[in-house]
Amino acid sequence: MRPALLDPLFAPLTTLKGIGPKMERPFARLLGREVPRVVDLLFHMPSGFVDRRARPTIAGALPETDVTLEVRVDGHHPAPPGRRAPHRTFVSDATGDLVVVHFNIEASFIERMLPVGATRWLCGRISLYDGMRQMTHPDRILDAAGLAKLAPIEPVYPLVEGLGGGQVRRAMEAALARVPDLPEAIPGEILANERWPDFKAALHRLHRPADLADVEPMGAPWRRLAFQEFLAHQVTLGLVRAQQIEVGGRSSSGDGRLMEAVRAALPFSLTLAQETAFSDIRADIASDKRMLRLLQGDVGSGKTVVALLAAACVIEAGRQAALMAPTEVLARQHYETIAPLAAAAGIGTAILTGREKGRARQAILDDLAAGRIGLLVGTHALIQPDVVFADLALAIVDEQHRFGVEQRLTLSRKGESADMLLMTATPIPRTLVLTLFGDMASSELREKPPGRQPVDTRSISLERLDEVSDAVGRALAGGAQAYWICPLVEESDTSDLADATERHAVLKARFGPRVDLVHGRMSGTEKDGAMARFSSGETRILVATTVVEVGVNVPNATLMVIEHAERFGLAQLHQLRGRVGRGDKPSTCLLLYRGPLGETAKARLAMLRSSEDGFAIAEEDLRLRGEGDVLGTRQSGFPGFDVARLEFHSPQVAAAREASAHLLARDPHLSAPGSEAVRTLLYLHGRDAAMRLLSAG
Ligand code: ADP
Ligand code: MG
Repeated sequence: MRPALLDPLFAPLTTLKGIGPKMERPFARLLGREVPRVVDLLFHMPSGFVDRRARPTIAGALPETDVTLEVRVDGHHPAPPGRRAPHRTFVSDATGDLVVVHFNIEASFIERMLPVGATRWLCGRISLYDGMRQMTHPDRILDAAGLAKLAPIEPVYPLVEGLGGGQVRRAMEAALARVPDLPEAIPGEILANERWPDFKAALHRLHRPADLADVEPMGAPWRRLAFQEFLAHQVTLGLVRAQQIEVGGRSSSGDGRLMEAVRAALPFSLTLAQETAFSDIRADIASDKRMLRLLQGDVGSGKTVVALLAAACVIEAGRQAALMAPTEVLARQHYETIAPLAAAAGIGTAILTGREKGRARQAILDDLAAGRIGLLVGTHALIQPDVVFADLALAIVDEQHRFGVEQRLTLSRKGESADMLLMTATPIPRTLVLTLFGDMASSELREKPPGRQPVDTRSISLERLDEVSDAVGRALAGGAQAYWICPLVEESDTSDLADATERHAVLKARFGPRVDLVHGRMSGTEKDGAMARFSSGETRILVATTVVEVGVNVPNATLMVIEHAERFGLAQLHQLRGRVGRGDKPSTCLLLYRGPLGETAKARLAMLRSSEDGFAIAEEDLRLRGEGDVLGTRQSGFPGFDVARLEFHSPQVAAAREASAHLLARDPHLSAPGSEAVRTLLYLHGRDAAMRLLSAG
């Protein structure tokens, strides 16, 4: 049971004052959880900050920097009726004049905020326009009372459509008021050495910074929170490991008959990397230790086939395997690859997702329970309680980082000591494997299957959009298909970002009904429909947000256009590019960027042009993330971690591992009163599955 102490943090966000049911939807999208909780918001880290401490005079204010100006309001010049001109307000101080510009805002409203003759404080940036200093839409217009409450440093948060920075900050204030004092889980020496604040103080300083170091990833508050998250993670790994040793594994070995039959059905021979990975996996499966292995390889490196061969090993021993993928599209695609090969080898397979319903679903469940299905492919639907295997011996999880530990455990628990194979198309730098997985075994498919053409990758300024559009036209004329990727529809805090729907309309106007659209706001069926039309060749251009990122296979698509490439992370760009170059025809990837590019963005694009090795790219990505430019543009955190940013905090992992080892050596089941704080920490960071291991053992 979760300690009552944490209840205020795990209450739904809507229990906070000012967050009604209407606000739940946008917060749900922001925080990536259907029913967002207070703790999810508190762990929503700033992506930057605005320093409000600069208080220059009007004459002394640098253009395009954040300032807070004390001004006197001299007069108003409302927008002439019916025209799209702005409302202008004239203000001044002893050193000069400034024009405050508002578009589309009621004059009476502005005049109330800026009464003539009054002193006001304006937060924002000034620019020079026709020789005049002006400030367009100040971030804040304050009177003396407002100024007294102004935060000296204001955190800036990643946002989604329908949610403004002010709303997030106000919600955060309400959430901070809920933070309880927690027992300290971090060992005293570390805390003292690092001079870290306690949990509550750390959250307060991060979200209500008084100093830049409070809000920076390398500052004490964030480092503390990252460390405690690592500690929770390491303790979880330790508990899982202990449990595995305790429970042990089962040896599954057959006569090689099915495995050979699958091989014989393959229209190609395995690469050396595939052979090596498979023989490691086969040995694990045959051993009586429980397998926990990671299979890493770029998109298209041939993981699915290896997974099928692994499944064949347990099936020929009379047992079953399951392959779980994070999305319907991916599950179906795996199934399409697997089904004909399995059929040729005489392996019973089926697919189970949210779409299989009623009698059809029941028939699958019956076949599964009777052992007539050897390999079941599916989505989260596989872990529903009524999905019962006759004898599950191998659980394969694709894109494992999209699942929680708990979901992975739930799947493997459907079998007795089931072996587990985790697959990922996001290569993880070696230096991080330990962080994320402890001492899990890992196989890497670095080599691509033969016959693949390299992807010709170029970066092009957005100003040359016309030429890009022509290139798309040429590709279509040549019978090819193209992807056109836009930044997420949801992430519209910067409104000039190409919006997928708008791009879709523009391309459709030029290329007609062959242009289709897929994005994250569509329902699963709509998305699948769009993917299916593209896959069958019915549509020729697919405008998409990053929902096509993972795993989708359309060999005839040979052109990939990525708009605002500078907004994407390196690993993500690489993933996206992996959608092309899957057939035997040469492919092109055009990275459209809006200049001027920062150093890091330049380095990212250069790396992509020069390499297609996902592992090398992952290493470089990590290095570049560490180089900065992280604040300001959104960098998503690392999968599985809410607070910790590995590019900054991974050096702390070793210490967290050590602390965890000490804790578990002293108290393996965390049952002593002294372990209360650590137990609380596990709950706090959502490692509930680990807690269940404790109560089971
Ligand atoms: P991944 O799951 O790693 O993204 P897949 O297993 O889907 O990759 O493989 C991508 C494509 O390459 C599939 O069409 C598959 O049939 C093919 N393929 C896999 N292994 C080989 C190989 N050794 N030689 C040639 N083609 C292969
Ligand atoms: Mg085994």
